[in-house]
Amino acid sequence: MVSNSDNDGTAIGCFGGFKLLRFPKRKQETSPATKVPSVSNYKNEKARCTSSHNLDFYAPSEWGVPTNNKQSVSDCVLPPYTAQNTTVQDPAEKTINEILNELDPELYQLSTKIHDHPEIGFEERFARDTLTAFMQHHGFNVTSGYLGLETAWKAEYSHGTDGKVIGINSEMDALSGIGHACGHNLIAASGCGIAVALKAALETHGIPGKIILLGTPAEEAEGEKSSSSSEVDTTRWISVSHPGPGPQRTFDLGTTIAIQTFEVEYLGKSAHAGAAPWEGVNALDAAFLAYSSLSVLRQQMQPTQRSHGIVEGRDWISNVIPDNARLRWQVRASTYEELSTLTERVLKCFQAAALATGCTVKIDQEPPYYELKQNPVLAKVFTNVVQTHFGHSVTQQGSSASTDFGNVGFYLPALHPMYSIPTKPNGGNHTPAFTKASATKEAHAANMITTRSLALTSLQILQNEYLFQGMKAAFASGL
Ligand SMILES: [Zn+2]
Ligand SMILES: [Zn+2]
Repeated sequence: MVSNSDNDGTAIGCFGGFKLLRFPKRKQETSPATKVPSVSNYKNEKARCTSSHNLDFYAPSEWGVPTNNKQSVSDCVLPPYTAQNTTVQDPAEKTINEILNELDPELYQLSTKIHDHPEIGFEERFARDTLTAFMQHHGFNVTSGYLGLETAWKAEYSHGTDGKVIGINSEMDALSGIGHACGHNLIAASGCGIAVALKAALETHGIPGKIILLGTPAEEAEGEKSSSSSEVDTTRWISVSHPGPGPQRTFDLGTTIAIQTFEVEYLGKSAHAGAAPWEGVNALDAAFLAYSSLSVLRQQMQPTQRSHGIVEGRDWISNVIPDNARLRWQVRASTYEELSTLTERVLKCFQAAALATGCTVKIDQEPPYYELKQNPVLAKVFTNVVQTHFGHSVTQQGSSASTDFGNVGFYLPALHPMYSIPTKPNGGNHTPAFTKASATKEAHAANMITTRSLALTSLQILQNEYLFQGMKAAFASGL
């Protein structure tokens, strides 16, 4: 768990579909933000969640070229990315700007190398080796296999004493079959760029501070971010970015929603489906009864809530009564509090199916992801940076996706901007079109603006005690 001393600080992230869906404002919390939601198995949380941010997009990307009857999506030409970059005056900011100008080609190479070697969660060995070699080359102390996870890593650098600690995150994993369709190659390179740029600023201008860059595995599968960030007990703030579709030169600082994942296994008894079906107990029937109940429940859910999943089984053949079936199911709601109520209703659907069929049922309720909190002071500093330095705009649309970074925000002041890269209509995250988009120079250009913005935001928090205390006060008051 994180300590509350004054001398530390950190920046991490992964996010979901951006814009297009506005959620009700979160109720003002009465308890301190440092208190995580009451969850029975929270202590053992490893933040497991498949498709943690299986994104929902409700309209084509505004960057995409509108289709018409004569033009197919594949014929579309992506618009160019034209970044606006104004002059930076502050000496330390100037250093950050200069070092990122120098690093630009190297970071693009880093991003495309990882893009060209996609690895799924916990198998990110190429990415780990490539990224840690880069960080070692730039003077960071690297720990591989961080927290006992083979592909997790940490890169640290300290300058002076009693400095605040800045945390940053590099995600690395791809999606099975479609590669880097979530753009984690960009996030990986961005984390490295932020860390190296801040190091240069600390060294050149004698600013005390510590930089911790965490390479977090398996965001798409298991979500190890919250467990690793909670181990970084010196961290004082944390941030991360994530690419997605959206209007050009725009960031989004909205929230994401809470998610609960269930693994439900029905066990019955196999029998010959023609000769003696009455001897069987049909587990597949149980799964489909549960599915039907869940579908009926959907009609009574709030428009902001989600319910979705899949049915799986072993050794099914059509002339044998299936003795096993498994549901992997996920429900989402605007807040964890709201999700808890929905969870109770979903559990009854699972149990009723077992009762009706005579199957036994085993329900494994995985640790939830909470709604995303954007620290208002970090958000304000970031917004000011992107508007004044780069002429970008910031929205607070939010998304009906979910992220393990939501849990991180209950431990630390957190910032998770979503930024747009050009992609084709309906070619958002987790599609083959987004895999292509994540490797383009235009995506890299947008990623570099994000990298600069997060580095400059962290620099301001490092140097400005008023902002630092304001950030802490906002977090302590539950914001
Ligand atoms: Zn992602
Ligand atoms: Zn993803």
